[in-house]
Amino acid sequence: MAVLGLSALFGAAIAVSMAVGAIAWRRRHEAVGFVTIGLIAAGAAWWSAMSLVPLLTQNPQAVWISLAAAYPGVFLLVVGWWATARTLADRFWTLSRRTGLALLCEPLVCGVALLTNPWHHLFIVRLQPTDLDGALAAVFGPLFWLHAVYCYALVLYSAVTIFRTFIRATHRYRGYLLAVLSAAPSATINVVAAGSGGRLIDLTAVGFAVGAPVMYWVVKSQSVTAVAPVAHHKLFQTMDDLVIVLDPNGRIIDHNPAAAEVLIQMPAADPSTPRGTAVSAELADLVVRGPGDYVVTGTGRSGIDLSIRITALHDRRGNPAGLVMVARDITEQNRQRQAVEQANERLRQQLVTIEGLRETLVDQASRDYLTGLYNRRHLMTELSRIAASGEHFAVALLDIDFFKQINDRYGHKAGDDVLIRVAGLLQAATYPGELAARYGGEEFALLLRETSSRDAARRIDVLRHLIETSPMRAADADITVTFSAGVALSTQVTGHLDALVHEADQALYTAKANGRNRVEISVNAPDAADLHQEDRSRPR
Ligand code: GH3
Ligand code: MG
Ligand code: MG
Repeated sequence: MAVLGLSALFGAAIAVSMAVGAIAWRRRHEAVGFVTIGLIAAGAAWWSAMSLVPLLTQNPQAVWISLAAAYPGVFLLVVGWWATARTLADRFWTLSRRTGLALLCEPLVCGVALLTNPWHHLFIVRLQPTDLDGALAAVFGPLFWLHAVYCYALVLYSAVTIFRTFIRATHRYRGYLLAVLSAAPSATINVVAAGSGGRLIDLTAVGFAVGAPVMYWVVKSQSVTAVAPVAHHKLFQTMDDLVIVLDPNGRIIDHNPAAAEVLIQMPAADPSTPRGTAVSAELADLVVRGPGDYVVTGTGRSGIDLSIRITALHDRRGNPAGLVMVARDITEQNRQRQAVEQANERLRQQLVTIEGLRETLVDQASRDYLTGLYNRRHLMTELSRIAASGEHFAVALLDIDFFKQINDRYGHKAGDDVLIRVAGLLQAATYPGELAARYGGEEFALLLRETSSRDAARRIDVLRHLIETSPMRAADADITVTFSAGVALSTQVTGHLDALVHEADQALYTAKANGRNRVEISVNAPDAADLHQEDRSRPR
């Protein structure tokens, strides 16, 4: 009867474990925890099935085989438990190849010990009928106990891991405690059964079979949000932006691979160790300054430019929990901006050069190439401009006397030099707002800001006297020249400015006719009559 009851119990354990295993397997892609629960469930189911054999048969051979065959199940269960603990403590945990190989050592040793047991009986000493209708149970030897200690150590380590996660976790993960507790009955049963010296049937597998749904529930409740964090984690790992999470003391809690290479003082090849280390000095400064947006140039080993945003983290009670530093590499952006700025600067300088050239061209176009004085065109433009402004002025036309003779006597070059010297004297005689121009050949024009022809004529006469008394050195000779001049006033004409120049020209003609080396005022000038009365011209 008791055998029947126990058989039913094992049967139920197999059914429950297989169901949990199947469900967990279906969800294996959602979280690593479901895979490890699958291992626990498979282990529990297999171990339960093997535990069932001694209840069904008392054939020592069959019982012995079932005992040995149970160990892969034990192995799966224990390793499954350990792996589940790891996934609960760290959602992103995955089994490394090295750890996987290390885990295989114990079952291999165990397998060899079991296969060679008939010779040494160090694992299972013998089979012995139990009080339960003579069902056979094992009396274990020292190798078994070594194996048991290893398994207990792994389960205990896992329980501690889960318990520590529980202590640190928020209320959402309180089910972890249940996970720890679920292992306790199984472990107790196992200790009692194994320690009974073969008097009791081992019900440990049943205990773990009961624990499997509990573990499933814990993983499931934790993995409600597992998909999103996994996605977040993937994003975190692969994003180009650099992310560092710091505790309130500025120590690194977490970071992504992109950050490891640049921000943290450590070899880029080892991105797994920086937890607890400090960020580089230039970033530590920013951490001290606190949340905000910053730009750091030439940072890290590769000297990149970073745009950094630091935001504060708070726990559920609103207490400071650290900082998140998100940095973006803006080196290329900066490089392009600088390239554009440099191109703009070059363009600006070219514009300045072009503007300068344009001004030079305009100036050259308005100047006489020989003397450097303004040319006739510019003179006329200026006269029009001033006339349009309503201001009055005087115009004097000057013509060097007998200039042809100078050319003939001293040469054309000497003639040029004389023209240049005369031009200099005329230029020096003008005030700001006035203008000296080469009108053509050996003729010059002066725009004077005078409103009386008498004043204008007086100034020209002073000039005349100056030039007459200033021998000019050219062609190894001191050449003295004189000029005749005609003066007209802007007030005397109303129409075109050519008429005004014509008036001045007429006066010049008169000066030539009257003997040269003299200044004549236009007969049509408003004040000409008085002047003519006074001293119409000083004969020379
Ligand atoms: P007048 O007193 O009647 O003005 O006699 P003039 O010899 O000065 O007048 P004319 O019109 O007969 O001669 C002007 C001379 O000026 C002729 C020309 O060769 C000379 N001339 C004109 N332009 C230049 C120039 O740029 N350089 C030189 N060296 N001579 C020039
Ligand atoms: Mg002339
Ligand atoms: Mg002349």
